[in-house]
Formats: sequence, structure tokens, C-alpha cells
Amino acid sequence: LSTTDLIEPQKICVCVRKRPLNRQEINKKEIDVVSVPGKGILLVHEPKHKVDLTKYLDNQVFHFDYSFDENITNELVYKFTAQPLVQSIYEGGMATCFAYGQTGSGKTHTMGGDFTGKRQNSSKGIYALAAQDVFTYLKHRKYSHLDLSVYVSFFEIYNGKVYDLLNKKAKLRVLEDDRQQVQVVGLEEVCVPTAEDVIEIIQTGSAYRTSGQTSANANSSRSHAVLQIVLRRNNRAATLHGKFSLVDLAGNERGTDVSSNDRSTLVETAEINRSLLALKECIRSLGKNSDHIPFRMSTLTKVLRDSFIGERSKTCMIAMVSPGMASCEYTMNTLRYADRVKEL
Ligand code: ADP
Ligand code: MG
Repeated sequence: LSTTDLIEPQKICVCVRKRPLNRQEINKKEIDVVSVPGKGILLVHEPKHKVDLTKYLDNQVFHFDYSFDENITNELVYKFTAQPLVQSIYEGGMATCFAYGQTGSGKTHTMGGDFTGKRQNSSKGIYALAAQDVFTYLKHRKYSHLDLSVYVSFFEIYNGKVYDLLNKKAKLRVLEDDRQQVQVVGLEEVCVPTAEDVIEIIQTGSAYRTSGQTSANANSSRSHAVLQIVLRRNNRAATLHGKFSLVDLAGNERGTDVSSNDRSTLVETAEINRSLLALKECIRSLGKNSDHIPFRMSTLTKVLRDSFIGERSKTCMIAMVSPGMASCEYTMNTLRYADRVKEL
């Protein structure tokens, strides 16, 4: 796959990314059941049993706008997914990019990159790469006359509640006025002069995300993280020009995990299911240019309401899959969901 394979950006782009087997999986002699045999194609070799209980592999084929194998870099994934959307916010559009998939499939790796340690080769994620391009465009002669500034907000949605990652996880209210305008009351929006400032803000915010009161990592996999890069005119009212929302979604595996009897886990599960279902329906109405957007179904879709309407709104979903046989059921769920997002 090279950039010559880039197709004209569409209103909705759905891609899939397979991560490599990790050391743990290799040690467990986990079998890789996912392959990318061609452009936009992804194959799952699902182990099944015949009536006589002999094992066989059932090949399931999926088609997406792009399919990325385990060797692709974040940079290249970015070029095919979020990069075309950066320009659209300069044209006055609303853009969204979602990372969807089970916990451990690579959502945060793709969006946030690898900030652990100060290694030279630590790879940038879509957040940082998009931020860099936003500032490149800001200086471009095609857009400089617009006299814009870049702002950033970063928040988490957990159990239907919004928490500000740029303000010590303050709990915020979501209000809708009589013109259906949705507002997150008191959300910090920081004016940022350079891409480096954005990256610093993301690092600070991400630290808040993983340092929950209880089990830190478990928490972050059950919440949606939303980074918004906002363009505003330098006028007195700071009029909104365009907005790019980059979303690291909650792990979708809880959609099938009904083994837990713990009440708070059940409530969490129901909330994640509802928001992911709502998201799918909202993206589908965007694709159909429908007037009816079921955005009230969840907090996630409420705060992203503006992104599901209008001629200039564009969205990209990257469905992440783990390659191992043990994840097969989750992988199939992820692929079916991604498949339906674009089905009209
Ligand atoms: P998620 O956010 O979906 O729960 P992570 O992004 O945290 O998953 O990924 C889980 C682990 O797998 C991390 O250690 C991450 O560095 C690694 N990983 C994920 N995707 C890749 C990839 N494409 N290449 C190499 N390592 C990856
Ligand atoms: Mg994650």
C-alpha cells in the first residue's frame, strides 16, 4: 500500500487495521487468523467445528475502503484516514475520526501513539500527526486570509458523563438549547500556538485519563476519549470555522460479555452498547444525508451532534482488530459493526 492508492475522500470512510501478534500471544503459540490479501480486503479464518466435531476453517471476507496489515506504520494509516479530513476543516467542515475495537486491539496506539518513555523512535499517533498538519495549513496562503486560531479541548465520556481531561477531570454537564445546539458547559478550550503545544496538552490529558481512582487501565478502556481541534476566526465572537474530533472509543468487547453479574459493570456495559449503537446510527444518517439524526440516544453522539449534519461533514472510522484466534469472536463483532456503518 502506498499513497498512490489514495482514493478521493468520501463522506464516510471505513477502514480496518490489524495489529501484529504481541510477545505474550507468540509465547502462548496463538494462531494468527486474520490476513490482508489485497487492497481493502480482510480475511478471517474462523475456526469452526463440523457436526462430527472435526475442526475446519471458515473463511470470512470483508471489504472496506482500506485494509491495513500488521506492517503498516501510524504515519501511513494517518495519510489514508485522518489527513484528508484536516483540509476539510479548513474548508469550514466538521470532521470526525474514530478508533473502534476491543481492548488491546490498538486504538490508543493508533490515535495517541506511543508516548511511553522518551525514546527517539517512539511513534506519533493520529492526534499528533493531525495537529502538525493543522498548523501547516494555518500558514498556507490559501487559508491565511481566514485569520484563524487553533484551539484544543480534550475530554472523556464515562458512563454517559463528561469529564474534562484538561481541567483535573472536572465533571461537566451537557445541555441542549431550544435550537438543538449542544453545549458542554465549562469545557476548557485552550488556544494553542504550535503543534508541540497540542502534543504537550495531549500528554497531560492522557495522564489524567489513565490515573482513575480505581483500576486505572480498566477505566480507560470503558470510556471514550475525545480530542477536539477547533478552528476559530480571530474576531470578537471567535466564530467557529471548523472542527476535527478524534475519538478513541471504549472497548467494544463488553457488548458480548454477559458473564459479569456486577451491577456497576452491567450499567457500564449497557451505556457503552447504547453509545456505540447510537454512533453507528448517526454515521449512517450522515451517509444518507438524512434529516433525522438519532443523536439524543447517547452522550457521545450528543456532543458530536454537529459532526453528523451538513454537506461538509466527513467521518472516518478505523476498526482495529487483534490477530489471534482467541480474539476471533470479538474480531468478527468489530468487522460486522464496521461493515454496517457504511451500508446504506
Ligand atoms: P487499545 O487502546 O485498543 O486497548 P492499545 O493501543 O493500548 O489497545 O494496544 C495494546 C498493545 O498493543 C499496546 O502495548 C500497543 O503498543 C500494542 N500495539 C497496538 N497496535 C500495535 C501496532 N500496530 N504495532 C505494534 N504494537 C501495537
Ligand atoms: Mg486504549
